[in-house]
Amino acid sequence: MSTLPETIAGILKSSPDALIVCHVGPDGDCLGGALALALACDAVGVTATVGSADGVPEAYAVLPGAARIITTPPAGAPISVGIAVECSSLDRAGSFAGALQGSRTLINIDHHLSNAGYGNIVYWDTSAAAVGEQVFEILRAMRVPLTTAIAQCLLTALVTDTGSFRFPNTTPKTLRLAADLMDLGASVHAVVERVYETRTPGSLRLTGAALRELTLSADGRIAWTVVTPAMLQTAGALTEDTTGLVGMLRQIRGVRIAFLFEVTPAGIRVGIRSRDAVRSNVIAETFGGGGHKGAAGFTAQGELDDVVARTLAEAEKELRVHA
Ligand code: 5GP
Ligand code: MN
Repeated sequence: MSTLPETIAGILKSSPDALIVCHVGPDGDCLGGALALALACDAVGVTATVGSADGVPEAYAVLPGAARIITTPPAGAPISVGIAVECSSLDRAGSFAGALQGSRTLINIDHHLSNAGYGNIVYWDTSAAAVGEQVFEILRAMRVPLTTAIAQCLLTALVTDTGSFRFPNTTPKTLRLAADLMDLGASVHAVVERVYETRTPGSLRLTGAALRELTLSADGRIAWTVVTPAMLQTAGALTEDTTGLVGMLRQIRGVRIAFLFEVTPAGIRVGIRSRDAVRSNVIAETFGGGGHKGAAGFTAQGELDDVVARTLAEAEKELRVHA
């Protein structure tokens, strides 16, 4: 009996081409995982295209292969293999959802707590700290040489999804794999330097503005704040500059769950972070989103005040059962 990574490796190696797709609002894990897969495809002669509907945030533009990422789906003949990289449902692939759906074999790789189970092959492992760990298993099954470039992509996935090995998803396996990737020439410092230690003035100004507006619930267990297009403009910030903000709210002593409400053209984007037993993903799922226990998100339609009120009501409900 083949393992899932072996099955996926077999399918990939016998396919002429592959479309590898990141989720909307891409992070270091899906970008690193997708690019590592693409580099492995190159090594075995599979023509790989990497898609990211929302492009590549500046911090990840230096990833090996980042320049090959396309932002609009390819036209033409169906792709033989589509790979959705940590898209818990197909719509998380954004404008690439249709192309994935049209591929002859669709592979769904994910480590989120919620996954819709779409596709012909579902490699869903919620014990993986990052989808990068799952991609590593596929690459191992493909028996491709692990180059420094591949190692850097995978290490980026591990570092960013574990918050530099600080989140509870970090396991001994994660650290061992990270050490092996460093042995191959990859650098943790290079990732940290680009992702956490390099910011624009606009990003810091936006953080200041958003933190100034933070609100705490009467019992001090819920913290939230709002980012509006006007705040982005005044600060000279980009949407991606909100990364990390909601995690700061969770740092407040006594806070069990934190929310960032961002007003965007697509609706109110809600980022969630929680501590200990409190389940961010359960709240996100109530609104059609998803994620992990400690970090999740969703997008809601409607007025900001209404979305805030409905979200806080769900948070109160969750705190009654999992404080
Ligand atoms: P972030 O707040 O960093 O954008 O997302 C935190 C986590 O929740 C990530 O693992 C991300 O993939 C997941 N997530 C964020 N927004 C959504 C969403 O709208 N739907 C789903 N299914 N997952 C989301
Ligand atoms: Mn991930």
